[in-house]
Amino acid sequence: MVPPQKEISFQEQLAKKRWEFWCALPERLLDLSNEVSHLFDDGNDRDRLQTIYGLLHRMVGSAGTLGQPALSNEARQFEQTVKALLNDGETLQSANLDWLKSMPSRLSATVVEPDGEREDVVEARVPLGGQKSLIWVLESDPGEFVALKRQLSPFNYRLRHFEDPLTAANADDSEQPQLAIINLSSFYDDARQRQVLEDFCQGLEEKSVQVLFLAEEDRFGLRVFAAKQMAAGLSVKPVSVPKLTGHIDRALARLSAPPERVMVVEDDEALAEHYSLVLEAAGMRVKVLGRADRIMEELTHFRPELVLMDLHMPEYSGTELAAVIRQYDQWESLPTVYLSSETNMAEQIRAMRFGADDFLCKPVLNIQLVAAVHARIERARRLADQITKDSLTGLLRHASIKEHVEQEVSRAVRDGQPLSVAMIDIDFFKSVNDTYGHPAGDLVISSLATLLKQRVRVSDIVGRYGGEEFAVVLPRCNRQFAETILNNIRELFSRIDFDSAGSTFHCTLSAGIGSLDPDLGQKGEDLIAAADAALYRAKNSGRNRVI
Ligand code: GH3
Ligand code: MG
Ligand code: MG
Ligand code: MG
Repeated sequence: MVPPQKEISFQEQLAKKRWEFWCALPERLLDLSNEVSHLFDDGNDRDRLQTIYGLLHRMVGSAGTLGQPALSNEARQFEQTVKALLNDGETLQSANLDWLKSMPSRLSATVVEPDGEREDVVEARVPLGGQKSLIWVLESDPGEFVALKRQLSPFNYRLRHFEDPLTAANADDSEQPQLAIINLSSFYDDARQRQVLEDFCQGLEEKSVQVLFLAEEDRFGLRVFAAKQMAAGLSVKPVSVPKLTGHIDRALARLSAPPERVMVVEDDEALAEHYSLVLEAAGMRVKVLGRADRIMEELTHFRPELVLMDLHMPEYSGTELAAVIRQYDQWESLPTVYLSSETNMAEQIRAMRFGADDFLCKPVLNIQLVAAVHARIERARRLADQITKDSLTGLLRHASIKEHVEQEVSRAVRDGQPLSVAMIDIDFFKSVNDTYGHPAGDLVISSLATLLKQRVRVSDIVGRYGGEEFAVVLPRCNRQFAETILNNIRELFSRIDFDSAGSTFHCTLSAGIGSLDPDLGQKGEDLIAAADAALYRAKNSGRNRVI
């Protein structure tokens, strides 16, 4: 599916689909009418009923979604009668026959000319695209803001200060923040300010801007207020910087997640295109399966995170295709959501036995479709993260990072591009644990992780290699460039204030870089060994340096 043109809005494209569907309806109704008028003329009743059933079934599924809900409902009545006749071998009563013969006119009577009305769709958020996140800070005390700004300076945020919610509400909103940090204690006790703040938070929620509250003291009233505003969190001061950046980054990660990839398996072309549009409007990537017999190639090529599967298709059923997919190890847990106008409970249950994760009945609402797909993919991603990512830092684990190094080495050799790998180790970390305790040590580790994630390019790969050791893979990056990046990180890390029991301390790190030499025929492990050796030299020549 070609991404929609910028000039034509999703709404216009959806309206076009409804229009096209409406234009093609007379012909579809005529096909139906032809079959119905010949019912019981000859001995082909069963075949004819089967054809009528197929036509009705498609109409039920597509009409509801493409702007003709009344037609969909009416067609469903006929569909169910025809199905009963087919399944139960019931003989036709004359009353039934009259009713069936009235099918074309009854269906036609429900058809409405499409209007240009907007459909309810879920609109994608604007992706962050690697630029610095903008955070609004609401804090009545300018001194507190300056302190916060200094503490957050090593991290990649832009802060904008407001002294009260009214000023923020009236600010020019040419650029929307991704997040608001609000000192709740500044405004909560004044009833008027509190009301303004509540309205302001409401406005943020409508614009999908998340809120993090700070508070001077832990009070139940403040917590309830924060809960009512659906806040991403509430931290009581003094707030530790690593905890705060952890909160901020979790909130922002939701905004910068890569687009979800959905494969649509649906024989009705108009419906497939409609689903694609709706999912793309919500920011997802969509591929409609072209040929069922090439499903494996298409899966491998597109790498979907979920399959939206029609149940009834002419050549293969949805459950058969799902079972074929499950035969391949790498697709064994690919989430599958069935989408069908099948209302028969027994058939739905049968479909579930073939490893379905959900079952949506056509016609499905746009927002329902997006919500179902989104929820399944988010959960699948979380599960995958638990396997490949470290729980303290959210970074790749040892084994995964090593795999990435191997992959990147092959790619760099093939493309004739430079590649560097850096190993990073925190200096004198044992004494941090010994002096301030293990939990304080954990916070140091997680803030270095946050810093690393922020300060490398999107194409770079960061992993937690061991306890307080990290690895960074830098594709298309020679030694000199890698040194610049790592020295910048080293410098920023040394400026982070860590607090423990009222005192502030600082940490430093050492890093070693291994860069690919195209003449040596190196493997990933050689590059890691070179980076390790350089790190060892950095430690031995005084620490707090990059070699
Ligand atoms: P050096 O400058 O030579 O690196 O000195 P160091 O004290 O940092 O020595 P080393 O790198 O060998 O120390 C690693 C220490 O990190 C030992 C271990 O107790 C601690 N550590 C490893 N994993 C964790 C963790 O998850 N949390 C905390 N708090 N400490 C950890
Ligand atoms: Mg179908
Ligand atoms: Mg160390
Ligand atoms: Mg170490």
